[in-house]
Amino acid sequence: MTAAEAEAYVPDEHLRAEVEQLMPNIEQTDPRAHAVEQAKQTIAEALAVAGRFTPTVNKHYADLAHAFIRTQAERNNLDAAGIAAMVPHVVSMLGEGMQTLDQSPETARGAFEPSSKTIALLEHADLSTFLHESGHWFLHATMENAAHPNAPADVKADAQILLDSYGVKDVETWRAMTLDEQRQHHETFARGFERYLREGKAPTAELQTMFSRFRSWLLSVYK
Ligand SMILES: [Zn+2]
Repeated sequence: MTAAEAEAYVPDEHLRAEVEQLMPNIEQTDPRAHAVEQAKQTIAEALAVAGRFTPTVNKHYADLAHAFIRTQAERNNLDAAGIAAMVPHVVSMLGEGMQTLDQSPETARGAFEPSSKTIALLEHADLSTFLHESGHWFLHATMENAAHPNAPADVKADAQILLDSYGVKDVETWRAMTLDEQRQHHETFARGFERYLREGKAPTAELQTMFSRFRSWLLSVYK
């Protein structure tokens, strides 16, 4: 909708005043929805600045990230601060000294730094790069949310299913591991996640159950 169309859409001065009065109230009464919307805006703007994809592709990716954040916010009962803490930084270049997954000078498509939640879309980033790096981000966010003292039991149970398949005792042990120690598990997850997006088939029955929880936002993006 253009600004002119929006003007035409709300032609009545009284109605316009009413809408304007209502808007801040919506944000106040539902701070979670507002924070989720802000998170989407942040990601959409960063994708535009990174400039690796067309505006249409960027919109799909922002929708995908938005749906993941919304789902996580609801399942984990996150407040605005918790939602803001999940939002990844999307950049087009690696910063000096970054501790990333996937950083390879030969291919240089993308990278992810867990500690700063940075998704880097590098020179040769293609359509699967953002989804693969998002897989790293999803795993990281899943573990961070499961580690929260108020995490719901089913969120912790989901994380433990993954940890059991990696032979890692618990989420505290995972968080104490170095990036090199986590690397193999991170790549297994990201590749499995990419394949699930492509084929709808998860690597194991347990992961099928877990990935299927993403279905609400997957379908909302790909339908
Ligand atoms: Zn990777």
